[in-house]
Amino acid sequence: MSNNQISKLKLPENKFKLLLHSCCAPCSGDIMKRLLDSKIDYTIFFYNPNIHPHEEYLLRKEENMKFAKKYEIPFIDADYNPRDWFDITKGMENEPERGKRCTACFDMRFIKTSEYAYNNGFDIISSTLGISRWKDMNQINKSGEFAVSEYEGLSYWTYNWRKENGSHRMIQVSKDERFYMQEYCGCVYSLRDTNDWREKNSRPKIEIGVKYYSHSNEEASNN
Ligand code: SF4
Repeated sequence: MSNNQISKLKLPENKFKLLLHSCCAPCSGDIMKRLLDSKIDYTIFFYNPNIHPHEEYLLRKEENMKFAKKYEIPFIDADYNPRDWFDITKGMENEPERGKRCTACFDMRFIKTSEYAYNNGFDIISSTLGISRWKDMNQINKSGEFAVSEYEGLSYWTYNWRKENGSHRMIQVSKDERFYMQEYCGCVYSLRDTNDWREKNSRPKIEIGVKYYSHSNEEASNN
């Protein structure tokens, strides 16, 4: 499907300014391009204190910032407060992905996004997290709706970014842009679990900062 065949996006009725929580460049690349093509007024909000280690956090953030700069999209670089993230997820260290720890992790990121949106003239938020086929859209949407509920007039946009081959285009944009390829969701526990899986399957451990998308590598990433 070429870009011309993809339908234009439209914010829900009466909404005009979107704050888009972004988790990384690969997940946000296609979404950012679609929002631009659709002439939607939006700003990127990068708030991901879950990402561990710091070196990985910087790699993901800088890749996303570079892409936003290329298309002149405003980019808010929010705090990196991993201690608070560890406090919030205490006792959930062994939860599986898509479990309770992930709900707490989404809630934390979306509450901060909502707070910023409310105080800075945005009337709707959303997140790029839902484009990944490794994530549970329903769980993400519930966290988003929970986060905005404290802020009058603010909504969460539950648009399904996977529609019209979104997941496929996400990989294509990542390859075109040669984005850094993260190989685990983000937190120290997802890094541990992915490495455990790799060990059991005789695969090498993850090396931070090594893998980049290109047109010659495989389609799957662990994000
Ligand atoms: S696996 Fe991903 S979504 Fe779940 S807690 Fe870790 S970083 Fe957050």
